Amino acid sequence: AIPLVIAISTTVAARAGLLVRDRRGLEEARRIQEVVFDKTGTLTLGQHRVVAVRVAEGLSEEDAIRIAAAVERDSEHPIARAVVRTAEERGVAVPAAAAFAAIPGHGVRATVDGHEWQVGGPNLLRRAGASTPRELEVFAGEAAARGQAVVYLVQGREARAALAVADAVRPEARAAVADLHAAGIRVAMLTGDARAVAEAVARDVGIDRVYAEVVPEKKAETIAALKRGGRRVAMVGDGVNDAPALVTADVGIAMGAGTDVAVEAGDVVLVRSDPRAVSRIVALSRASYRKMV
Ligand code: ADP
Ligand code: MG
Repeated sequence: AIPLVIAISTTVAARAGLLVRDRRGLEEARRIQEVVFDKTGTLTLGQHRVVAVRVAEGLSEEDAIRIAAAVERDSEHPIARAVVRTAEERGVAVPAAAAFAAIPGHGVRATVDGHEWQVGGPNLLRRAGASTPRELEVFAGEAAARGQAVVYLVQGREARAALAVADAVRPEARAAVADLHAAGIRVAMLTGDARAVAEAVARDVGIDRVYAEVVPEKKAETIAALKRGGRRVAMVGDGVNDAPALVTADVGIAMGAGTDVAVEAGDVVLVRSDPRAVSRIVALSRASYRKMV
């Protein structure tokens, strides 16, 4: 039989907008020493907008948007949706692309007008060994300082254009971090995004520990390393990329509006996508299990 105290706490949890998938997660939550948040879609709204475009010599802005949108058309990444929307808003006709392939944690590639193109972040540039013209480097530095992500349109081993993408921080994120700090819990951010962007968002929400430019397969490893260091860790995420990290953590917390994969990997699901619920889980766990061994 389920102890009465647990039955009660899951009911209380449900009322607080928490879906408890694994009761052990709720019980473990009172022992958590460190909470690691995914950035995109978890601390931020995940509603990206392209706010600026810069092209290298020999490519028009319209062509850059046309080609980038064609490459991104079949990607579900929030940045891809923003690029495609920009083409629509500007009335740019998007040609069909061939041989589309996603490069998880990096970007996408496809053939447009008979040429192979790639679109992705700084990780992709490194992976492709691509050089960046000076004007795009300056543009990227300015965007990063504003906390905006930059994605590049790459042909062969050269970046031909850069797009600055803004994603607003969730209004509750700062309070969510402050509440955890007040409960004596360390808070970190784990993201595939560029370091400068990650740090700008971290400053905004009050996080001082940042793991940036982490490729998806390394996210779980980062959590495992923290655990090996003797810490009890909760991971909060929303994406497909976050599932292995959610499973690896002592407590996996999935944001409800994210993907089904993440939801299935979580011990606790935040039905309302409010990161403040994380400290409520800890408080609920501490209150419910205080008298148990
Ligand atoms: P996050 O950890 O921020 O949720 P991901 O692990 O999904 O991000 O991706 C890491 C980085 O790879 C992104 O920040 C972006 O720079 C790049 N990226 C991935 N997919 C795409 C895409 N479809 N279009 C452009 N950039 C992408
Ligand atoms: Mg995410």
